[in-house]
Formats: sequence, structure tokens, C-alpha cells
Amino acid sequence: MSPGPAKILYVEDDPANRRLVRQVLTGAGYVLLEAADGLSGIQVAEQECPDLILMDIMLPDLDGYQVTTRLKSLPELAHTPIIALTAKVVDSARERALIAGCDGYIPKPIDVDLLPYQVSEFLAGKCEEIEGGAEERLALQREYTQALVVQLEEKVRALRKVNVELRHTDELKSKFISLASHELKTPLAVIHGYLTMLLDARDGPDPVADETLDCSLMGIARGVERLKAIVEDMLDVIRIESRTLRVHRGPAVVKEAVWAAVRKLESAFQERSLTIEVGPLDGLPTLQADAKRLKQAFSHLLSNAVKFTPDGGKINIFAQVTQGAQVNHPCCPISSAGDFVEIVFEDTGIGITPEEQERIFDLFYEVRDVRLHFTSKTDFRGGGLGLGLAIARGIVEAHGGCLWVESEGYDVERCSGSRFHVLLPIES
Ligand code: ADP
Repeated sequence: MSPGPAKILYVEDDPANRRLVRQVLTGAGYVLLEAADGLSGIQVAEQECPDLILMDIMLPDLDGYQVTTRLKSLPELAHTPIIALTAKVVDSARERALIAGCDGYIPKPIDVDLLPYQVSEFLAGKCEEIEGGAEERLALQREYTQALVVQLEEKVRALRKVNVELRHTDELKSKFISLASHELKTPLAVIHGYLTMLLDARDGPDPVADETLDCSLMGIARGVERLKAIVEDMLDVIRIESRTLRVHRGPAVVKEAVWAAVRKLESAFQERSLTIEVGPLDGLPTLQADAKRLKQAFSHLLSNAVKFTPDGGKINIFAQVTQGAQVNHPCCPISSAGDFVEIVFEDTGIGITPEEQERIFDLFYEVRDVRLHFTSKTDFRGGGLGLGLAIARGIVEAHGGCLWVESEGYDVERCSGSRFHVLLPIES
């Protein structure tokens, strides 16, 4: 033992317990070192080589048995007494502690009058033994080893799961960088083109014609609008992911939100010869919802219907009041008996395979290979950032509703289409 007062390391995650033991043992003349979890316990023990270690068993990372076994495997600590100090009341807790390598066991709650005396006994060489014969010891040893292997297996499984999630996040990140640069480059190129045209015209011999000026400014404004929309989408995704998307509820009329989304895409319907049919929406109850956000969600669904329906196709929007309990779809976990408005966006587009029907709501998900990506809000099979459905679902869910898709499958020839269902509660 080192000269001077003995150094005791107490490995314990509960600050109140640490405070109590600190008061008792420093009051009795010992130096107390502390660690709040198993790994830091090992680190402090290796650095400080204490004269005795008090070991809690229920620790947040490695448990006290595992820490003890590890410490006893270190030559410089092999002879340091380790005393299990725990409220663990399972049968044979004492025997387990001794099998793991502990030299003694002090049950909690601590007897504050007795603790300094118990510590001094162990410092003086007291060592507890397992009662019973060799067979009993062997059985305990086997049980302990098996428990260690089970815990190891659980840790490996947990690590593997985290690893898969990390890899997935990493892939998403790379995909996002690749898509985002594509998406941002297009409007930037447009803005750059018009600006260059204006600058060249300014430096030329003739004054810039009003028509050129108008056309360039409109082009620049459109480019800036597109950039703004992309950045807004990115910010919305962050808000949805961090659950900070604000929904400003007020009276919201479904018909108005649907028609606002339809009007935004009117020129695309004409350019692409798409027929749009909006069912009667007059009789629907007014919702307590964020009308702007609803329009945003509907616009994403409608823009997708346009993008994934070939020229000459048809888009239908209709709605009805339905009871939550009657909706029987695995992707709609609503079990409330309350009334909902169900709005359906139906198209005669290329459809979606059963496997993709849930994955398309993932962030940055594009069914197609990223290398084939080309940016367009309205062209047939034009690409986007892969955020539209994630945002639409985030908005609908922030209202207490759900969004899912039904499709007979992907078929570019037959075009059996897709139906996106939006379910919104009537009462907020
Ligand atoms: P994007 O910006 O790529 O449109 P979305 O999240 O809106 O991102 O959609 C993700 C993917 O879901 C699309 O790339 C497309 O493959 C598929 N998808 C979405 N809506 C439809 C639809 N109406 N018909 C067929 N496929 C669709």
C-alpha cells in the first residue's frame, strides 16, 4: 500500500451516493477518487492505482462485474482489493461479485458508521470466499461466462445496428450533396445566363431594348424564386426532422388550399396536355389547420402527379369525410374514432412498385439512379431533391393526420397510376 492516507476509488453513477461515501470516507481520513461509469472507472484505476476500489454493479455502460473482471486482468491492479457495493438484491449477487473477481461485498444501503471499518478490514487483507464446493463454483463461473457472452452479443448487435444506420445516413448525405448541387446549379446557371446577357448588352453600342431587359429580369426573378424554394424545402426538412415545424392553426378551407395548389401548376397542365379534375369540395367541413402549410403539402403531391404522369394523362383530386377508425391501411396508424377529411390525389402516371411505396417518403429518396437525375418541377419524370414527399408527410403528421400511397405497381407502358391519400382530422 502507498504511504500516506489510502486512496479509494468509488465507481458509482449516482451523484448522491458518491457524495455520501465521499463524506464518510474523507471524514475517516481516506482520499476518495470517483468515476461515474465503468469505462472511466477503468481509466482512473489504471492512472491512479488506488489502494482499494468500491464498485457499484448497475452502471450505465459496462456493469460492475465486467469492470472488475477487466481490472483484475491488469497486472498492476491484479492484487488491488475490489469490493462490490451495491443495492442489487438478486439471488447470489454476492457470489456473482466474487466470481467476477471481487474480494468482498458490501450491501447497500450503506451503514455509514460501519463503512470506514469495513474498508479498513479489506485494506488489511480481508478476502471473502465463495461458500460451497468446487462444483458450485464451476456452475457459477459458467453462468457468469455465459452472461458475459450474452452481453457481448447484445453489444455487437447494437453496434451493428448503429453501424447500418450510420452507413445509411452517410449514403443519404452523399446523395443529398449530389442532388443539391444539381438542383442549385440549374437556377444559378439561368441567373448567370441572363446577367451575362444584360452586362454584354450594357457594354454594347446599342441601348438595351426594353423587351430584353424585361425578359432577363423575369428570368432572373424565376431563378431566384427557384433558389428560394429549394432553400425553403431544405429548411423545412430540418424543421420536420427536429420536430420544430410550426403549424399556425386557424380556420382552413380544404377547397381553397387545393385550388391554390392547382393554380400554381396551371401552365404545366397546359404544356403537358394534362387534364385536371377537381371533385366537388364545397360540402367539406372547415378544418382547424395551417392553410399555407396544407397548400404546400398539396403542391408537392400535385407537382409529383404532374411529373410522373405522361403527356395527355389525367389527374383527379377528390375528398370525403371519413371516420379515422374506418381507414384500414398499414401506413395509417390512426385509430381515433373522430372524423377526418380524406383528400385523394389520383393520377394516371407510371405508378410505384409495392417495395417503393413506403420508401419514397424517406428523405432524398428518388427511385431512379442519381446519375440519371435531371432537374424539373413539371417535365415528365423530372427530378427533384427527393424532399417533397417527406415534407408533405411531415406537414400532414404535424396536423395529426397521415399520408400514404396506393398503386398497382410501376408500369411505364400501362400507366395504372398512383393514389396519394391525405387524412386530416377535423378537430385539431
Ligand atoms: P422528388 O423531389 O424526387 O419528386 P419526392 O419526395 O416528391 O421527391 O418523391 C420521391 C419519389 O417518389 C420520386 O422521385 C418518384 O420516384 C416517386 N413518386 C412521387 N410521387 C409519385 C407519383 N405520383 N407517381 C409515381 N412516382 C412518384
